[in-house]
Amino acid sequence: MILHIDMDAFFASIEQAVNPRLKGKPLIVGSRGNKLHTVVCAASYEAKRLGISSGMSTRDALRICPSLEFVPAEQGKYIWTSEQVLGLIKEHGYPVDYVSIDEFRLDVGALKNPVSLAKRIQEQIYANFNITASIGIAGNCLLAKLASKLNKPNGIAEITSENLVQVLNNTSADSLCGVGVKTESLLDAKGIKTCLDLYQKSPRFLEALFGKNGLNLYASLHSVESLEVSGEPEKPKSIGHSYTLPRSTKTPGFIRAWIRLLSEMVAQRLRQETLVSETVHLWLNGPEIGNFGAQKTFQIATDDGSEIYTRSLKIMVRGGLKEPKIRALGVTCGGLKVCQEGALFEEEKRRDRLLKVMDKINGRFGDSTIYPAQVTLTRKFQ
Ligand SMILES: [Mg+2]
Repeated sequence: MILHIDMDAFFASIEQAVNPRLKGKPLIVGSRGNKLHTVVCAASYEAKRLGISSGMSTRDALRICPSLEFVPAEQGKYIWTSEQVLGLIKEHGYPVDYVSIDEFRLDVGALKNPVSLAKRIQEQIYANFNITASIGIAGNCLLAKLASKLNKPNGIAEITSENLVQVLNNTSADSLCGVGVKTESLLDAKGIKTCLDLYQKSPRFLEALFGKNGLNLYASLHSVESLEVSGEPEKPKSIGHSYTLPRSTKTPGFIRAWIRLLSEMVAQRLRQETLVSETVHLWLNGPEIGNFGAQKTFQIATDDGSEIYTRSLKIMVRGGLKEPKIRALGVTCGGLKVCQEGALFEEEKRRDRLLKVMDKINGRFGDSTIYPAQVTLTRKFQ
């Protein structure tokens, strides 16, 4: 069984959770600081009810609702919260996929009562972060994601062999993930309106329409019960995070702050998994440098964000990059092994204790309660 966890109006909900004045109000999060010259990147449910949706220009949104609350996006905060939610979900011991910043997928194998697990996860997320999630349950990823949309917000829905036909009949074909606008007109031309129309087609028909994806689609729609039963959750081979900046930038302090934030996020996940890493891989993308990727293996394995950051900078220097213009970046740690021995030196021991306390505080209070000061620079120049 798959549980697809989709956070409700994630960015907007986080802003409402940290600022009670915004609770219950129509609110949008803008991708840039200028209220009149940006696009809506998230809308609260109160704003959604008025017909405001992400992707819309803020000007149009404000026309619909002049009293709309506006908050400029703080990506660092959302990524950090996403990490915390992921950590919480992982504690249940099942393999978890990080689908996107606000979506996680949990493979619970042949678990008898997935609904009660879903309820528990919802309660935990709410108790820790004061935000809600909707959870879909089904035998495969495609249907679980579909199910997560059925009862939004704060809902749970399960697709079983009993309700499959009814659910598919009530769902438009273009709301299936991976079906874009282009496909929508294609589907229209073939007279396909609902998911049930797709369900009733032969595998050959779907293959002709979507190629190999069509066969996967057929298999997903027709396999409601889970076939695979997952075994022990596997330890990951590498842990990485990447991020695309709102626009290209050359400002070294800003770029370094992002490398620091990504390093801290990777380190936190290493510590959650009780792993340490020997190899750091840095990936940078920019208009002049294209894709730059390089890695280096170090003698001492680490799970410390500050150390991973220093190592990333070394890789950058070795790559001969002098103040490159950067659009996207990523930090990945490989060469993972289980963290066994404690620190040898007093300095390291103190550092270990500091990290433990930091993880504990962030684990309890969520929302990036404490983090290195350098990370705050990621909020500039947005
Ligand atoms: Mg969502």
